[in-house]
Amino acid sequence: MRKLTLDDVDVRGERVLIRVDFNVPLDTTEDGSPRVEDDTRIRAALPTIRQVLDDGGKAVLISHLGRPGGQPDPDLSLACVGDHLGTLIEERVRFSSNTVGETVGEIVNGMGDGSVILLENTRFDAGEKSNDDTFAQALADLADVYVNDAFGTAHRAHASTAGVAEHVDVAVMGRLMEKELEALTRVRDHPEHPTVAILGGSKVSDKLGTIEALSETADHLLIGGAMSYTFLKALGREVGTSRFETDRLDTAESLYEQAGDTLHLPDDHVVAEAAEADVEPSVVNSISEDKMGLDIGPDTIDTYRNLILDASTVVWNGPMGVFEIDQFAEGTMAIANAVADATDGGAFSVVGGGDSVSALAQSGCTDRISHVSTGGGALLTFLEGAPLPGIEALTDA
Ligand code: ADP
Ligand code: MG
Repeated sequence: MRKLTLDDVDVRGERVLIRVDFNVPLDTTEDGSPRVEDDTRIRAALPTIRQVLDDGGKAVLISHLGRPGGQPDPDLSLACVGDHLGTLIEERVRFSSNTVGETVGEIVNGMGDGSVILLENTRFDAGEKSNDDTFAQALADLADVYVNDAFGTAHRAHASTAGVAEHVDVAVMGRLMEKELEALTRVRDHPEHPTVAILGGSKVSDKLGTIEALSETADHLLIGGAMSYTFLKALGREVGTSRFETDRLDTAESLYEQAGDTLHLPDDHVVAEAAEADVEPSVVNSISEDKMGLDIGPDTIDTYRNLILDASTVVWNGPMGVFEIDQFAEGTMAIANAVADATDGGAFSVVGGGDSVSALAQSGCTDRISHVSTGGGALLTFLEGAPLPGIEALTDA
């Protein structure tokens, strides 16, 4: 699956269409104008953008933002993202309110070497998500070279991530894409043992394939979060009003049997009447009918922490509880610290998933992790061993 990279192309004077992942959270300033709330993903794309500009390419940036549903939505314009990028790279970043078309084509053709333009949200066009060939061709019309640096959307076969690559002469990986693949290949294909995988979050159904794959490669698979209640329910335990998925009980049961001793479930829980800040939590081993499990308990933290500290490879996706509420955040914070401590001790660690990465930031441990992935769905798909269309579509090395 080796693909060309930026090292294999000479971008000087060329129009370089770069698919970045600028799907960032926005908020509003006091005067009501939109601004970037968290620029982690923009910063992650800088190495590729800087290199193309330094090498004299004309950088034409494309991305999606949110879910506009295939039509323009002013609240999901990338304009403010372009302004933000400009302050980060200290260069003028032009913005085009059209994504494709003749006008954009003329602007792009007139660009100077080493200059940069950001085009409007690709999902303002219905052809993006349907991977429409005409839209893919219109994007390709703006490019001499196509670079995919959007790991976070590499699991989607959309026009700007996959279709476009078929219409250009050369399609290569960006720096972020390379870095992600290097780190993730290491944990998936040649991990140093013992390997500990930690999976949590809201739903088993999102992560079935990943659980199955990791239960084979990992020495220990530690389950937390709401997904643990689907497993516990499947094993006939009382889970009270905890969130679980009725239609996944059979699958959970067979996964549990298949995984054998590898799979660990929490044996104590922080429970309460509701997932709210003003309820009184308690720690229990068995959950009563009227309570819901909202975090892993102290004994589980202890067991999980020790297994993590012994690991040479750690991969973590999915919070251990409702970490957005302080009194249910302890399990997730403890796991974040354990993964960071293991990394300090020489383990190779990967953390990914939108909520997991926020939880990691909340714990203050982000800088102590070997690789913080920008992928959620793409990370799970990769770990599952399934192909990523955004990478498959690139030119073979
Ligand atoms: P990621 O984005 O890292 O992949 P998910 O989206 O799968 O993670 O899950 C994160 C969500 O799971 C969080 O909003 C968290 O509140 C929720 N969650 C975790 N544990 C529980 C639980 N016991 N009950 C309900 N929700 C939970
Ligand atoms: Mg999430």
